[in-house]
Amino acid sequence: MSDIQLLPCAHCGCEPMLEKHPAHSHSAALQALVPGLPDHPGSWTIECPTSGCVALIGDACADVITAWNRREPLASRPADAGGSPVDHACARVRNAEAELKTARKALVDVMTTAALTND
Ligand SMILES: [Zn+2]
Repeated sequence: MSDIQLLPCAHCGCEPMLEKHPAHSHSAALQALVPGLPDHPGSWTIECPTSGCVALIGDACADVITAWNRREPLASRPADAGGSPVDHACARVRNAEAELKTARKALVDVMTTAALTND
């Protein structure tokens, strides 16, 4: 498999992590939570190290790599989805900052309401 090149993440350009997960039985704690959970038959995963970006799982290493490396040619993307991997990463950071700002405001609203009703 080492002769197959793993392309950088199509969304952010980071170097992905390829990992083999051997067949195994799940822990007693997990089996207690999910009765009848079958043994894991073994798998391969490819994961982008950027938090919340993208990951793939599959039975065969070559299939997972093929799926990971599959991507649209830049020319076929809509104009607003174009740009370099750095552009995409910057857009993701801007979106995350906007979501964080909205979440902070919602949290402050909830805490303010709770403080007012607990007086
Ligand atoms: Zn990524």
